[in-house]
Amino acid sequence: MDKPGWWFIFKGHRLLTYDDQGITAVPFLHNGGELQVSPLRTLLIGGINDARCYAAELPETAEAPRNTAFHGLRGLFGVLDENMFAMAMKALGIINWDRNSQFCSRCGTKIESGFDMLGKECSNCGFISFPRISPAVIVLIEKDNMALLARAGRFKENLYSVIAGFVEPGETLEDTVRREVKEETGIDVKDVRYFGSQPWPFPDSLMIGFTARYAGGEIRIDGEEVVDARWFQAGDLPEIPGKISIARSLIDWFIEKNSQKSGAAT
Ligand SMILES: [Zn+2]
Repeated sequence: MDKPGWWFIFKGHRLLTYDDQGITAVPFLHNGGELQVSPLRTLLIGGINDARCYAAELPETAEAPRNTAFHGLRGLFGVLDENMFAMAMKALGIINWDRNSQFCSRCGTKIESGFDMLGKECSNCGFISFPRISPAVIVLIEKDNMALLARAGRFKENLYSVIAGFVEPGETLEDTVRREVKEETGIDVKDVRYFGSQPWPFPDSLMIGFTARYAGGEIRIDGEEVVDARWFQAGDLPEIPGKISIARSLIDWFIEKNSQKSGAAT
């Protein structure tokens, strides 16, 4: 950890950045001791161009050194450049994994930190644990020129988004889409098509985006996880998620598609 590099230093979900004269930047350090912080864990996680990238986690009680501040990672979307933001997402995912895999999950032996990106091997039984990634689907459903958006009980008032849910063992991603939509809204879908994906290290998801079309059924919600679900037209949307999320990319795709249509009609 004594070579120069970019340091992605987290306290919870908050990233330490230099904040100086309106510039927010990930610290580039000649050695890890330079900032005089005491990380709980420090890991080499890769490189950007020729520079190494390190991830470190600070205890909740840590204070930001001079000219630095902690920022919620999601709030740094569009502030840090794309490479830096992607590496910060990776750093947070790796930190989460390292923290949650301190003991062998097969035999319970303490595993010494020492991270080489290939996994952690138990010195007692040889079991190797890899960073955990939990796949989840997220889907925008279209019916004519409308999209189905739902409000989860945990959302703030008037915020609606697309349907999402975790993949279960034995399912294809398309199975998960059909099951989640049916469970959460009561409707059937067809023409499930891949849209794109996004790592979401809160704590370890990979969001896999799809579009689908309405195939039948009436909206029926469970009233717990989902408290409302409706068809919305592109010109009449409620509050939707921020630009960082693939949920927003899906909704923006729908808006774009429908505004082209209405543009062509006039
Ligand atoms: Zn073991």
